[in-house]
Amino acid sequence: MRAVIIEPNKVFLQILEALFSEQNIETVQFGTGQEALGFLSAGSCDLICAALHLPDMSCIEFSREVRKISSAVLTPLVMITSEEKKEILSEGLKAGVTEVFPKSDLKLLSHYIANVAEQTLDTGESPGRILYVEDQKATASFISELLRQNGFDVLHYFKAEDALVAFEKEDFDLVLTDVILEGEMSGLGLVRAINTDPEKHMTPILAMSGMSDPARKVELLRAGANDYVSKPVVEGELVARVTNMVVNKRLFDKVHEQKRRMQEMAMMDQLTVLYNRHYLGETAPKYLSKACRHQNELSLMVIDLDHFKAINDTYGHMAGDTVLKEVGSVLKDFGRREDIVARFGGEEFVIMLTHCGADDAYKRAEVLRKKIEALKPAGLTVTSSIGVATLGKDIELEQCGFEQLFSAADDAVYKAKESGR
Ligand code: GH3
Ligand code: MG
Ligand code: MG
Ligand code: MG
Repeated sequence: MRAVIIEPNKVFLQILEALFSEQNIETVQFGTGQEALGFLSAGSCDLICAALHLPDMSCIEFSREVRKISSAVLTPLVMITSEEKKEILSEGLKAGVTEVFPKSDLKLLSHYIANVAEQTLDTGESPGRILYVEDQKATASFISELLRQNGFDVLHYFKAEDALVAFEKEDFDLVLTDVILEGEMSGLGLVRAINTDPEKHMTPILAMSGMSDPARKVELLRAGANDYVSKPVVEGELVARVTNMVVNKRLFDKVHEQKRRMQEMAMMDQLTVLYNRHYLGETAPKYLSKACRHQNELSLMVIDLDHFKAINDTYGHMAGDTVLKEVGSVLKDFGRREDIVARFGGEEFVIMLTHCGADDAYKRAEVLRKKIEALKPAGLTVTSSIGVATLGKDIELEQCGFEQLFSAADDAVYKAKESGR
């Protein structure tokens, strides 16, 4: 986000500048109205903040000039003043000033800036992508141009059917649709189709129509449109609604991604990138009951590294970690897609082998044991002891709890340790 400040008083300019930089907002500063107008005619900004008295004009005259610049028609313009006369306020607002804040309470201005920043698309981010459906050529080019001028990427279609194909293929931050369309599918049909898309139904939809019938509006909103604008559109209103919706969609995406990452982190062991004990505890019972229900074979393998403490003691904890990581990666490759490979804790791992009976599990355990022995992680010889338990053989099907199966496999590990590791 970028703000323009016009303030002739150097000290106060510094105070304002600090207010913006606190919120990581870039500023361009000017001492006169003319300089700022020159800048605004050539470039754009997201917020203008001006003192009431400028050396060459008043903020009210300045505002009138700003509103003549097409790229600055909708830019919030804030006036800062120490005068409390009512006339100044109303004159300012008439001239296009958005808000007036007193010099004496800059907290108000600070809150306002934070609000604008929240509702402004970060210039570092990619522009919002809008899928736009409108069957009237003139309206379509006018609105597309308006949105593009405001920094959006617009993909326009005349028919909802074609827009839906594009929607399924690509990601959009907003769907803007007319309601009555010339193709087979109406705007309402498009809203319904988008809302039943299993992955992208959260994409916001703004419906736009010349129909004033309230029942139709309600029907659109019920079908899943998030907002509605009437045609002919008020430019500023459309841009403001579109911007709000795109900004909120981006925030939603961020929260969603954070949640996904947190869930993933809660399931994974950081060191080996295998599933952790928590995930195993949640998932294993489901695998077990499914296997019982369908009478599928299922075995569990518990793998414990031999004399691992000695590796830490002799070569250090870092070498120990490397061993765990390398063994973890062998286990990951070894597991089939339908198996669960997890680090149970310390140097103990578990593999749940689906569709795998006792003989098969024993053979696979022997293959794995040899793989670990041949691995030489961190250049060291590392061996393992593996215990195997099979559902229906070591544990009665009726008592097929994960704990019982695990403890049978763990007992087998102890036997392996006792008989020479
Ligand atoms: P055994 O052959 O009987 O299995 O002996 P062991 O030394 O492998 O077993 P023990 O349970 O005595 O020691 C396990 C060691 O694993 C102790 C602990 O400090 C170490 N350990 C547990 N988690 C980690 C880890 O994340 N990194 C490292 N480097 N060591 C760990
Ligand atoms: Mg139409
Ligand atoms: Mg061990
Ligand atoms: Mg152990």
